[in-house]
Amino acid sequence: MPPIKKLEKDKKKPIKAPVVEVPKKKVKAAPELLRGFRDILPEEQPRWDLVQDTVRQLADAYSFGRVELPILERTELFIRTVGKQTDIVEKEMYAFEDAAGEKVALRPEATASIARTYINHGMLNLPQPVKLWYWGPMFRHDRPQAGRYRQFNQFGFEVIGVEDPIVDAQLIIIATQLFRDLGIDVTIQINSIGTPEMRQAYLAELVSYFRPYRSQLSDDDKRRLQKNPLRILDSKDPAVQELLAGAPQIIDWLSEPAKQHFMKVLEFLDEMEVPYVLNPHLVRGLDYYTHTVFEIWEAGDEGEHAQNALGGGGRYDQLIEILGGRPETPACGFAVGVERVVKALAQRGIANEAKNKPKVFFAQLGDAARRSGLRIFEDFRKQGISVAEAFGKSALKAQLEVANKLDVDLTLILGQKEVLDGTIIIRDMELGAQEIVDSSKIVELVKKRLDKKAGIVEEPLPVIGPSAP
Ligand code: AMP
Repeated sequence: MPPIKKLEKDKKKPIKAPVVEVPKKKVKAAPELLRGFRDILPEEQPRWDLVQDTVRQLADAYSFGRVELPILERTELFIRTVGKQTDIVEKEMYAFEDAAGEKVALRPEATASIARTYINHGMLNLPQPVKLWYWGPMFRHDRPQAGRYRQFNQFGFEVIGVEDPIVDAQLIIIATQLFRDLGIDVTIQINSIGTPEMRQAYLAELVSYFRPYRSQLSDDDKRRLQKNPLRILDSKDPAVQELLAGAPQIIDWLSEPAKQHFMKVLEFLDEMEVPYVLNPHLVRGLDYYTHTVFEIWEAGDEGEHAQNALGGGGRYDQLIEILGGRPETPACGFAVGVERVVKALAQRGIANEAKNKPKVFFAQLGDAARRSGLRIFEDFRKQGISVAEAFGKSALKAQLEVANKLDVDLTLILGQKEVLDGTIIIRDMELGAQEIVDSSKIVELVKKRLDKKAGIVEEPLPVIGPSAP
């Protein structure tokens, strides 16, 4: 034990606070989005909702069942179906090895997965056709540009198990109807590319047609001509497009039944007055297509080539077999790019506002009012009325400013006094008029006022007989 004297001496010494170094916060920039990826913010949602609601309604009307497919699949699935020599598989796939060394890929499209699902779940034993639809993100490491992202969303409709041309026609009718419902005028670009067997002779002819012009072709097109000549028809190079005008057309190489099949599709479309354009250069960029191929273009976009098609699809009669399913399982389908549809809606000013945009604002003064507010929110929620608030603000003026910005019809004001009296104030934001009402009837009263503002009037009672004189 130290001597007492020393302790007392120590006591008198002023104690110096230790100097603690507070590390300075480094200001770091938030990580930026990856190129080609985007956030879809609340203000864009009304359009997304409109598209999804419309798709869902059509899917129900035509009895398509929804499938939710995984985003990650075996890379092999796409190599075997989309094709090794396609842009998607060759250049654009997000493919990697997972921790277990499995070769996997973020799906670049969903038709291959749909075919896999059909086989994996023994759907060939169900009544045919099997009609499925899907919605979800796809990934392609493409060069980002307007309307072209690295993560984008597609929905698609697929009909598996029936070869009849009426299936192709009905899918095209559904696609056209969908855009009509959305208020976007479209035309269908359509072609038939037969089967790989029929294409052989045609491709030889196509290659020999381009041989004298080889020196004029870009490296990309030269490579296409060598590895996947059909893709030359898809070239964006204006010089090639000019040359294509004199090139052999695939339709002349189709077998008689294949021609008949295509003619039947067109007849059905004529019957339903679906606007289409025969496009002998339309081939689509995926290997699995056979016979009918089509794209959905915005009306008036015809001159711009397929750069910004809203959607595309076609028949894929050999896909199920390629994946090891039952041979001769015909199928047809289409996919639409949601981002492009949403953009077309925005350009037309369609669905600018949320359907459930709050029409009521709740302003509170004091703690008791906030507490009551929580219950009031619940009451409104049960009636499906959405209510906005600014709980972070305490002054009435500041809260009313928010209400004004949100452009609500009514503001409810609850202060200490009203809580004690069991009342609440309703302020009509347009007229600036206020009234004090019984707080237990608030939901009912607000509903009536909103209906009145929306021009919904209660039906008068039906007159049963002549009124008494
Ligand atoms: P595809 O089967 O490649 O023709 O794709 C069908 C539809 O998906 C296209 O018509 C586009 O609307 C959409 N789509 C395809 N690739 C992209 C992309 N990179 N970014 C946005 N939408 C895309």
